[in-house]
Amino acid sequence: MTGTGDPVVIVGAGHGGATLAALLRQSGYTGGVVLVGSEVHHPYHRPPLSKKFAGPEAHQLLRPAEFYSGNDIRLRLGTAVTAIDRSAMRVRLADGTELGYRALVLATGSTPRPLPVPGADAAGVLTLRTLDDARALGAALERGDRLAIVGGGYVGMEVAAVARSSGIAVTVVEREERVLARVAGAELSRRLTDAHRLRGTEIRTGAQVRAIRTADGRARGIELADGTLVAADTVLVGIGAAPDDGLAHRSGLACDGGVLVDEQGRTSDPAVFAIGDVARRPLPGTDGPVRLESIPNVTEQARQVTAALLGAAHPAPEVPWFWSDQFDLKLKIAGLVGPGHRVVAREGRKPGAFALFHLTPGNTVAAVETANAPGDFVAGKKLVGDRTPVDPVRLADPAVSLRDIAATGAGV
Ligand code: NAP
Repeated sequence: MTGTGDPVVIVGAGHGGATLAALLRQSGYTGGVVLVGSEVHHPYHRPPLSKKFAGPEAHQLLRPAEFYSGNDIRLRLGTAVTAIDRSAMRVRLADGTELGYRALVLATGSTPRPLPVPGADAAGVLTLRTLDDARALGAALERGDRLAIVGGGYVGMEVAAVARSSGIAVTVVEREERVLARVAGAELSRRLTDAHRLRGTEIRTGAQVRAIRTADGRARGIELADGTLVAADTVLVGIGAAPDDGLAHRSGLACDGGVLVDEQGRTSDPAVFAIGDVARRPLPGTDGPVRLESIPNVTEQARQVTAALLGAAHPAPEVPWFWSDQFDLKLKIAGLVGPGHRVVAREGRKPGAFALFHLTPGNTVAAVETANAPGDFVAGKKLVGDRTPVDPVRLADPAVSLRDIAATGAGV
């Protein structure tokens, strides 16, 4: 039987799924909540995996295990939802059991893209998404393996920084002309590239991987399209992540590079929601729906779905933001970096501190990228949300406070 007595079933026990389950309870939801996760581990923080993978501090639970039993959140770990019967409002699990739902939330996340070249299935070719992945990478680096990283995205650059800090030889191979091309502006890419090279990371941009070189089934390095060989004992592939929307596809939900949802996280079926990496959502100021891969994004969407399930007021949209730690650089980015922006740099008083403001042709702030400048990040994020024009000359002057700039806008 299905009906209002059935639980909210959350598919995916990552940051989004676990946060939603907790928010439902904190908001007074008294119905059943079931959290289904394919990993055997209790929900854990993913950001430390690419920053502290080598140590025990990589394994940080989102909440103590007792939290779930204490809040009547039923965990079904180590099993996956394999099918959705939307007309009967039931899901089937890999272990053969079935669950009715009153609402279903897909928080299935994304999966590392495989590298489509010969040798990519050899031992020593790793990806980084799960705790078990991080442990495998940590073990390789503890042995002092030389590391080649394919992809200069967040995974690649964060791991490169940790590995270099432990004295490991690291080469990053990126097919774009600059690292972090998908998420950062050109000036930030340049500054980060300098910071990495200064610490001895070899970075090759505009480079294509032709094959993974192997011996006895183990990776021995990578071969580039121009014939260059990069010797390595471990190859980390961090070339992006694809949304885990197969279940949604198979059950006939509208998908287009992710599961399409509205402002409340609702899919084309009003009883089914999707949040996080798997969802493509509307965002104020963007032309079409976007898929964002970040903790703040999934947390915001968990709030939206909580409000929808409780019939509460729709929360105001938030400015998207991201963070990354690389060496001693604490990066925080608010808004979305795009083409056609004019970049205004505001250098901090402390060495290594800066903020890069991305201005639209109308001088509103579309995005701000900061390093070691938490105050500028907070003020810059507010400027992104306010969308009032600013004076670029005053913005570049660290002697003028951002609060004053926000108050006076483009005026003097
Ligand atoms: P990513 O940020 O999308 O970066 C992947 C990079 O690899 C892109 O620049 C991509 O270029 C490049 N690439 C693709 N194919 C390549 C190839 N064959 N050879 C060389 N380079 C290639 O993805 P990621 O670093 O793998 O991260 C995966 C996920 O983890 C993302 O969801 C990311 O947001 C998340 N993550 C986030 C953080 C953080 O927020 N601090 C930290 C770690 C992980 P193209 O654009 O041309 O494809």
